[in-house]
Amino acid sequence: MVLVIITSFFLTFNCATSDLPYNRIMNHMRLEITPICVSCDACKLICPENAIISNGTNYHVDDWSCTFCGLCIEVCPVDCIKEITN
Ligand code: SF4
Ligand code: SF4
Repeated sequence: MVLVIITSFFLTFNCATSDLPYNRIMNHMRLEITPICVSCDACKLICPENAIISNGTNYHVDDWSCTFCGLCIEVCPVDCIKEITN
């Protein structure tokens, strides 16, 4: 019973504030940057969570920092950031 209450609170609270925990846990959602990335840094500069990690040539999204705001997807000039559901 306690577990049900805690789980309900967790899902309700997080769904009300962000899709992130619900989607990540229930749908295993994440963002993937595909190889056609041209390393323009636009996504990295606009990300409010600093969730785009790069070494200058390879880019990926930190699943635990990303809030799925979608800004990086909007600014990417080559449309290479994709939502993945495992
Ligand atoms: S969706 Fe938002 S938080 Fe996630 S990586 Fe893109 S800009 Fe950052
Ligand atoms: S905005 Fe797109 S092309 Fe530019 S660095 Fe990010 S993923 Fe790569």
